[in-house]
Amino acid sequence: MDGKELAARVRAEVAREVGELGRPIGLATVLVGEDPASALYVRRKREACAEVGIESFHHELPADTSEESLLGLVDELNRDALVTGILVQLPLPDHIDDDRVIRAIAPTKDVDGFHPISAGYLLQGRPTFVAATPSGIMELLRAYEIPLEGARAVVVGRSNIVGKPIALLLLAENATVTVCHSRTHGLAEVVREANVVVAAVGRAEMITKDMVSPGATVVDVGINRVDGKVVGDVAADVRDVAGHLTPVPGGVGPMTIASLLRNAVRAARYQAELLAFPRD
Ligand code: NAP
Repeated sequence: MDGKELAARVRAEVAREVGELGRPIGLATVLVGEDPASALYVRRKREACAEVGIESFHHELPADTSEESLLGLVDELNRDALVTGILVQLPLPDHIDDDRVIRAIAPTKDVDGFHPISAGYLLQGRPTFVAATPSGIMELLRAYEIPLEGARAVVVGRSNIVGKPIALLLLAENATVTVCHSRTHGLAEVVREANVVVAAVGRAEMITKDMVSPGATVVDVGINRVDGKVVGDVAADVRDVAGHLTPVPGGVGPMTIASLLRNAVRAARYQAELLAFPRD
């Protein structure tokens, strides 16, 4: 499954939607500290925004920024009408509580979908913002017409940003979902039962050919650096048995950025009240 090609189509579609919306979309990006991987991710997101006509307002703060001053910035961004969406790049330095900062973002501007309100609505089956990686995976599965209704789906990994939300999204499409993690007994046997496997573990090539049922669809979320090369969580020879497989790189990664752009447009619609945010 070619995520690069599909992501290019999604970006073109988002660019059209941005034009049709006819009002400015402004994504605030906040980077604290100098972690090179985080800096690279933020740069790629901002470049993708620029390409589709979304303005980004970048805030780069030193690593010793206090939690209070970061919360102060988030509060300002929440109130700023030009800022229609807010992205605080994680992880934050150790002295800052990531969760507290995420909770401070206005739920209508939570383009990453990490706020507990976004996660809660997803759990209840009426999503507002869905995290970009699981959202991108679903778009890939849809584009390749992978049957999900009644299918057995096995998600390996249970993080709040990938494993849990993708499990909920697959469930919403009427798959029968099993979530595996580091304490799962007999992982290979469980994965072998799957029609759809999503590997989001962060361990290089841990899903091997013998674990995959012939014809299964395999989504590789992993990004692992091994000897200067990026490899996924799925071994290369899985392609010999899988019906569909996402490559690393060029699979889930590009779809993640494309889905973030979709969320940025959704946030602008919420701000403009063209889309109603659920209220109590
Ligand atoms: P994470 O928070 O570290 O979670 C990893 C999960 O894998 C945990 O639930 C853990 O179980 C489980 N796990 C660890 N060892 C295992 C084992 N031996 N068997 C079964 N499960 C095991 O990671 P994440 O943030 O979800 O990310 C996962 C991977 O996806 C990473 O490589 C990350 O870089 C990549 N990623 C890629 C994108 C993208 O855009 N392509 C986006 C996000 C993440 P426990 O809960 O029991 O500890």
